[in-house]
Amino acid sequence: MYLNDPITALKGIGEKTAALYHKLNIFTINDLIRHYPRDYEEWRDIVKVGELRANQVHAIRAVVISAPQTVHIRKNMTITTLRVRDDSGACDITYFNMPYIKNNFQPGKQYIFRGRVMLKNNRITLDQPKIVSPHEFVRNVNRLSPIYPTTKGLTIAAITKAVRAAIDALELTGDYIPESMRMKYGLPDLKTARSGIHFPADRAAMLACRKRIVFEEFLFFIVSVLFLKDMATQEINDAPMMRIDACQDFIGKLPYKLTNAQKKVWAQIEEDLCSTHLMNRLVQGDVGSGKTIVAVLAMFMCVMNHHQAAFMAPTEVLARQHYESILKLVEDYGLPFKPVLLTGSLTAKGKRRAKESIILGTCNVIVGTQALLQDDVDFYDLRLVITDEQHRFGVKQRETFAQKGIQPHVLVMSATPIPRTLALILYGDLDISVMDELPADRLPIKNCVVNTDFRKKAYEFIAKEVAAGRQAYVICPMVEAGEELMGDQPVLENVIEYTEKLRKVLPDTVRVEYLHGQMNPKAKNYVMEEYAAHHIDVLVSTTVIEVGINVPNATVMLVENAERFGLAQLHQLRGRVGRGREQSYCIFITTSSQNDTLERLQVLNKSNDGFFISSEDMRLRGPGDLFGIRQSGQFQFRLGDIYQDAAILQEAQSCASALYDAYVHHQAAADETDEYHGFWKYYEENVNANVDFINI
Ligand code: ADP
Ligand code: MG
Repeated sequence: MYLNDPITALKGIGEKTAALYHKLNIFTINDLIRHYPRDYEEWRDIVKVGELRANQVHAIRAVVISAPQTVHIRKNMTITTLRVRDDSGACDITYFNMPYIKNNFQPGKQYIFRGRVMLKNNRITLDQPKIVSPHEFVRNVNRLSPIYPTTKGLTIAAITKAVRAAIDALELTGDYIPESMRMKYGLPDLKTARSGIHFPADRAAMLACRKRIVFEEFLFFIVSVLFLKDMATQEINDAPMMRIDACQDFIGKLPYKLTNAQKKVWAQIEEDLCSTHLMNRLVQGDVGSGKTIVAVLAMFMCVMNHHQAAFMAPTEVLARQHYESILKLVEDYGLPFKPVLLTGSLTAKGKRRAKESIILGTCNVIVGTQALLQDDVDFYDLRLVITDEQHRFGVKQRETFAQKGIQPHVLVMSATPIPRTLALILYGDLDISVMDELPADRLPIKNCVVNTDFRKKAYEFIAKEVAAGRQAYVICPMVEAGEELMGDQPVLENVIEYTEKLRKVLPDTVRVEYLHGQMNPKAKNYVMEEYAAHHIDVLVSTTVIEVGINVPNATVMLVENAERFGLAQLHQLRGRVGRGREQSYCIFITTSSQNDTLERLQVLNKSNDGFFISSEDMRLRGPGDLFGIRQSGQFQFRLGDIYQDAAILQEAQSCASALYDAYVHHQAAADETDEYHGFWKYYEENVNANVDFINI
């Protein structure tokens, strides 16, 4: 079996099952074995009934002391209850819609039950526990079994079986990480890591395998950055721009004064555009620091120098939003912009018209998404490309443009706060400007971190804010129900059901809608526009709204399962409120009662400073708590997390430099006897060609 084989190559996976895998973005064997567990289930030892704690998964050995009772609570709904005890106390056990289960128990006999502990009517209850044979228990105790992201119709057990079959059938030979490097950084070899990340013998083995995979993800990324850096420093600007006095006039007409940070960054950009080298600059500024206006100034200068400028966003929603705010600027300040919008969801005719005006030069500001990069888009005279909120998209496109014979200045805007040490590695190819100041007129956001008991109050609060004319966001980690619950996993809220629930709970006058990444672009645009126009009061969403969305009238952000998100990402989410003059609020709801999770979330309570928050995220999360935390979009690796794995990132950096030096100085790629030859061969075949290289 080969990595590139379709998953239907596995026995038992036909077209129908394959379609379910496709939903998880798994098409090939390679995709399947890179579908890493999002957590592991660890069977811990049996506890006493008296030690059961709500929300945890526990196993008990107990005697059935009451005959199982089944009651009908509604049509087609039954609950079967029995009571059990050991020498420390008694508890209830309940099964939903499983009336036949009562035949499995005999009062007076002892069983091992394993399941989630719930508090029902103030009684400790094991909910739907499995009955485990002593033999099975002994076999599983203290082992880790993988928990995979799933979708409706595909169970964790099925995925586990498929992954195991794929790993067994694959012939893995060689290792592209040179042995000397593996020794130096303590990395298991490829074969060990690939299988051990799914089926580790124990926790230590899992950590070692994970380290290898994270290291590898970072390594390829950093090597790509090193190549880009070399390219970037060689780019000559053959037509330096002129400074434009009208920019200063425009700044004078704005309803606010630029912050010192904005002035400083604008001066740097101005200098770049006039210099003898092409600009490759990253503007790193916290949410709300006012990056957009700096981008507009750069476009203004470019347009006044008779060139075209492009402004790209990672999503249609954002592109449209930027387009509209540019139209408004043109109207309000008479800017000489002739903007055009180019996104994937335009009609064929709309696209053709947009492309025509781009090549003829009848437009000078092009706003769009990735569609801009397509081969058949030609430019009249493009000299500046600005990308908002997506660094890699920005850098990779430099190559795409180069292929069209265009060498634009590149300006990348990012709100991902990254501590300086990491920024130097991840943005190694760019000059970095830091916008470390928020406009003075901002009221700091009020935050609270609470448990689920607080929901009722939170909904009342949202209703009150909506009644006062404000809007709210609610964030859930999942799109729809359907993921199985396993192990210690808390219930994950999902957008679809939560929307239904809010419609019931909130007053009828409150308009609740939802938004998520699986909707088609048109539907997403529509919902976003309706929200911006205040035809929607409460928007329930996944993190798709994380980047850039600007609706100043929104004053409440409620995040469910906050423990599932990285601090930097929560900070980004929070940045969607506090954008207007009204006081804004952020409510982080967590189902976790673990102290370290609470401590981590409290950081958000203490500070509204993205840089501080991200370094705390780095400090607080060691390799102990590994899985299930989602970081924000920009540096999303499959397994690696730049904050938590900062130490691995630094090791990968030094490894990458050594490999790169060898490439440059001894042509390691060409020399088959060189010990790094295997690495470079793999890199050229698999990484270099892959545009989306962050996700290799
Ligand atoms: P971000 O850096 O997150 O992209 P934006 O550019 O969207 O932030 O700016 C957020 C809001 O702040 C916008 O409504 C913008 O008009 C406003 N703004 C920008 N600069 C200033 C400033 N110096 N003083 C006051 N408000 C500003
Ligand atoms: Mg922005």
